[in-house]
Amino acid sequence: MKHISILGSTGSIGRQTLDIAAAHRNSLKVVAMAAGNSNLPLLSEQIVKFRPDLVSVPTAADATALKDLLAGERRGITFLIGDEGLDAVASHSKADTVVTGVVGFLGLKPTAAAIRAGKTIALANKETLVAAGAAIMPLAREHGSRIVPVDSEHSAIFQSLGSNTSADLSRIWLTASGGPFRTWSKKQIAGATIGDALKHPNWSMGPKITIDSATLMNKGLEVIEARWLFDVEASDIRVVIHPQSILHSAVEFVDGSIIGQMGVPDMRLPIHFALFFPDRVYSERVPRLNLAELSQLTFEEPDIDRFPCLKLAQSVAAESNTLPAVLNAANEFAVAAFLSEKIKYSQIPEQIEQVLLNHRPVSKPNLDDIIGADTWARKESKSIMKAKAT
Ligand code: MG
Repeated sequence: MKHISILGSTGSIGRQTLDIAAAHRNSLKVVAMAAGNSNLPLLSEQIVKFRPDLVSVPTAADATALKDLLAGERRGITFLIGDEGLDAVASHSKADTVVTGVVGFLGLKPTAAAIRAGKTIALANKETLVAAGAAIMPLAREHGSRIVPVDSEHSAIFQSLGSNTSADLSRIWLTASGGPFRTWSKKQIAGATIGDALKHPNWSMGPKITIDSATLMNKGLEVIEARWLFDVEASDIRVVIHPQSILHSAVEFVDGSIIGQMGVPDMRLPIHFALFFPDRVYSERVPRLNLAELSQLTFEEPDIDRFPCLKLAQSVAAESNTLPAVLNAANEFAVAAFLSEKIKYSQIPEQIEQVLLNHRPVSKPNLDDIIGADTWARKESKSIMKAKAT
């Protein structure tokens, strides 16, 4: 029996993790879960179904509302709130693996808590490594915490590497679907609406990552994530557009062999892999790929002129200072501002670029430096947005 904690149980990754757990009740037990306050009825259903020992929500008011929803079903469950609650879920004494399904920089502190507790991390929160890879990777080594990627591309790279190490690698081929604007002109993209940007052709994901996939910032963040996870130079990671999303990424070894991983575009596959790693276990939940029915797999260069966010991310990908944290924070801010109709789509890259230009990077940052850079970048983003609006 493997015991798991889930950070972000009502989000896209959390719901799909629970779908896998429901299909494997004899081998997976959910011991703790944390969720935001946006869907307490769903959280209450999850609690009744999976009976965790510990549940965390953001505020005391959320906890009261949740307990009311649960009524008699709340017996035997501990309820916690805020950062303390997130940390407790992340470091729950019974948990072997912690699934980090929270979105954004918010995932940094609980991920660090899980690492300090020596847990295996099923990492779905890429922003933690993007912003803080320079501090998180040494912390994981120090505490003997293993990080197994859930991001589909990184799961593919992890699986393709097998027992080989970064010394055997010549480069990584990081695939991208190209998102909903792959065939759009620069002018069309500039006028994109929220509805346009949320229509991802292949993957079903939360809103933040779906916008990141439309701008290709997601791929840029993934370059930085891969650099830390696999200890490779950012310049040895090649982004390639692959619209069918069947080859989830590949590694090219020094001898010229390319090994990749294929499957249907369904997040339950990398989640399932991470939960059962190092074993391979039959999954009834993951749809199968029929190679005979695939008519074509195509690949093309990304166009950084139409997708400037990719270029911005690549420009800081090799840095080990606070610039990647600033990129991440400015992006989170801009995406949230776009989703709440405060800025236009075309302002997302403009605003991020300005924040990066205004930043004075701190070299060899510790976690506090990184949190400081994140706070600074959000304030800076806000003042740039306000200045532009007036
Ligand atoms: Mg991905």
